[in-house]
Amino acid sequence: MRARLFRLTSHVSRLTFCRPTSHVSRLTAFAVIRFDRVSKRYPSGHEALSELNFELGRGEMAFVTGHSGAGKSTLLKLIALVERPSRGQVLVDDQNLANTRRRGIAALRRRIGMVFQDHRLLLDRSVFDNVALPLIIAGVARDEIGKRVRAALDKVGLLGREADAPVALSTGEQQRVGIARAIVAKPPVLIADEPTGNLDPQLSAEVMALFGEFQQVGTTVLIASHDLSLIKRMGKRVLVLDHGRLIDDFRPASS
Ligand code: ADP
Repeated sequence: MRARLFRLTSHVSRLTFCRPTSHVSRLTAFAVIRFDRVSKRYPSGHEALSELNFELGRGEMAFVTGHSGAGKSTLLKLIALVERPSRGQVLVDDQNLANTRRRGIAALRRRIGMVFQDHRLLLDRSVFDNVALPLIIAGVARDEIGKRVRAALDKVGLLGREADAPVALSTGEQQRVGIARAIVAKPPVLIADEPTGNLDPQLSAEVMALFGEFQQVGTTVLIASHDLSLIKRMGKRVLVLDHGRLIDDFRPASS
C-alpha cells in the first residue's frame, strides 16, 4: 500500500509539473491500465514504442492516434499480452503483466474485450457461435451462454440474427457482431484497433456511440484510430503517438 501511495504521489508531482490542471483530475489510485516507462523494440531492432507513461481509470474512454507506424497497434498488443515490453511495466487492473505466464495470459484475456478492424469472425460459424466463443472458453454453463449472447446481441442491435452466418450480414453488422463477442463476458477493459477502418462515416459514428455506451457502464475503453474528425466529435481523451513517443495527451476543448 505504501509503495503504491508513493508511486501515486510521485506520479502526481510529475504530471502536475507538466500540466497543472488537466492531468491531475485524471489520476486515480485505481488505474485500470497503467504504462510505466514502457518501450518496445522488435527483434528487427526497430523501437516501436519509447518510454510511454500514461494511465486510464475505471470507466474512462480514450483514443490513441498517430500516423501509420506510430505504434498504436503495438500499444494495444502490450495490453493484451500479444507482445511484451522490452523495458518498463504494463499493469492491467493492478496486475503486472511482466509476471504473467501461460495460465495468467488466458485469465487476463478474459478480462479484456478485443475488437479488430477486420472483425475476425469465424465465417463457418453462426453469429450465435461467434459471440458465444469467449463464454465457451471460460466454461460458462450452456443456458447462461444463451442468455448472455442474446443480451450482447441486443446491445449491438442484432437480436434475432443469431442463426445467420456472418457473410449474410453487412460490414457494419459484422463489426457489431465483433463488438458483441468482445463484450459478452463483460470485461472491465475493451480495446479496439481501428474498429471503424472499413466503415463509412455513418456506421463509424454508430460504432463509436456503442463504445461510448460501454464506457457509461464502467468499462475502460481504449481505441486506436487515425480518424481525426471522428475522434474530435467524440470529445474524449486523446493520446497522440509519433514514431513511438507519446507527444500529447489531451481532451478536445469541446468536451
Ligand atoms: P500503427 O498501429 O500505429 O500503424 P504499429 O504498432 O503497427 O503502428 O507499428 C509500429 C512500428 O513497429 C512500425 O514501424 C512497424 O513496422 C513496426 N512493427 C510492428 N510490428 C512489428 C513486428 N512484429 N516486427 C517488427 N516490426 C514491427
